[in-house]
Amino acid sequence: MANFVSLDNLINPTNADAMRAALKSSGCSSTSSCGSSAGAGDLPPEVWDRIKDHPCYSEEAHHYFARMHVAVAPACNIQCHYCNRKYDCANESRPGVVSEKLTPEQALRKVITVANKVPQLSVLGIAGPGDACYDWKKTEETFSLVSREIPDIKLCISTNGLALPEHVDELADMNVEHVTITINMVDPAIGARIYPWIFHEHKRFTGLEASQRLHERQMQGLEMLTAAGILTKINSVMIPGINDEHLKVVNAEVKKRGAFLHNIMPLISDPAHGTHFGLTGQRGPRHAELKALQDACAGGANLMRHCRQCRADAVGLLGEDRGQEFTLDQVAEKVAYDPSQRQAYRAVVARERADHGAAKQDARIVLGATDSDASILVAVATKGGGRINQHFGHAKEFQIYEASSRGIVFVGHRKVADAYCQGGFGEDASLDSVIVTLEGLDIVLCSKIGDCPKGQLENAGIRVSDEWAYEYIESAISAHYAREHGAVLQARSA
Ligand code: SF4
Ligand code: SF4
Repeated sequence: MANFVSLDNLINPTNADAMRAALKSSGCSSTSSCGSSAGAGDLPPEVWDRIKDHPCYSEEAHHYFARMHVAVAPACNIQCHYCNRKYDCANESRPGVVSEKLTPEQALRKVITVANKVPQLSVLGIAGPGDACYDWKKTEETFSLVSREIPDIKLCISTNGLALPEHVDELADMNVEHVTITINMVDPAIGARIYPWIFHEHKRFTGLEASQRLHERQMQGLEMLTAAGILTKINSVMIPGINDEHLKVVNAEVKKRGAFLHNIMPLISDPAHGTHFGLTGQRGPRHAELKALQDACAGGANLMRHCRQCRADAVGLLGEDRGQEFTLDQVAEKVAYDPSQRQAYRAVVARERADHGAAKQDARIVLGATDSDASILVAVATKGGGRINQHFGHAKEFQIYEASSRGIVFVGHRKVADAYCQGGFGEDASLDSVIVTLEGLDIVLCSKIGDCPKGQLENAGIRVSDEWAYEYIESAISAHYAREHGAVLQARSA
């Protein structure tokens, strides 16, 4: 089945009933054995206008828009204990990992190729391996080449902040409106446990002195970006036992300095990655620990909860990676940008968004009427467009929402190691690992599931429903919640 948010699907007039009918005729039978949500209303219009097409800065936008990263700036001026820039594996998905490094000219050809084939593309980012500000000439040249050809693409960088202050003016001149700084501490004693060394002003520093310098430059860079009107996202890696509790202080400090978003990400640590933390057995946080920390930061800097910790050469909607379709050997020597697909896509998304907004409003009314104290966690299988439109067996991740009578909040996602359905057949081993991934959730909503996996999930205490296939996520969750908890209201008022 075609991707729901492809241009074709969005342009063709369609509705949930039509999509369900198409599903029935597709031959995939349910008895088969195969196996901040901030939106326009919550933000000043000028801010919404700057983030509404950015899949990382707006949770709402990530249902519709895609990003791509180009690895053009490999040099780095610090060492983080969670990074090994030598590592290269196409099957890995984590920041800093990349299959090929590009020259600015190669990056331009790749961006044009992707823009012609992925109409959802709205953002070009330079996000490692390496530091976009330290390897500045390549960053600058890439952005200048791309913005000349595709003027409406949003330019975005990630940096460790050490070389940031000297480039803030140039970033503003280049119309870079989104910058991410990775800030893991505001206390150099904690920083010394994360950064073994930095290289600054032609000298190498270690220990407390290194962390102190890094901290000062990060704070200075953030204040300068805020003063320049650039929207700054802070990434923090949560490292249990080292900076987990401290990240609440980081959240407050970056809020004070004008950060737009705070993205607390779990440490990815595995001996096979060859990182210091991986080799020394430093563990990453569990789902519940990450959520507890994020919840504890509520009321501080706005939190990003939909980060997918993408590869440094990722292409596509968050949660999908089409990078392998656009490796350099598949990019033509001569390419010309055709804006028609992206323009048509945007027109259709504008209409979809209006419908989706109305559906969210209806969902709020339904939930508000239940008068229940219950809070439930719902996993959703989606390919984008804000709808429940993915077969259970094809899902490589589930988006997690928390629903109560107060509303529906996106709280994160859970990746599965392998989708259950492999080439038309369900894999029991994969199902076991999906069951572990879905632990603690109240219900899973998907567009289709076979009787066999559904029964196995139910035996493991996990309910799954395909009753709301192709509905908007909020419509489905509110209908489910009202069915389960609306009765409380009726019983009370009877
Ligand atoms: S700043 Fe980025 S590229 Fe440099 S060591 Fe840290 S994670 Fe790796
Ligand atoms: S790593 Fe997170 S912030 Fe960066 S592009 Fe992916 S989702 Fe966005």
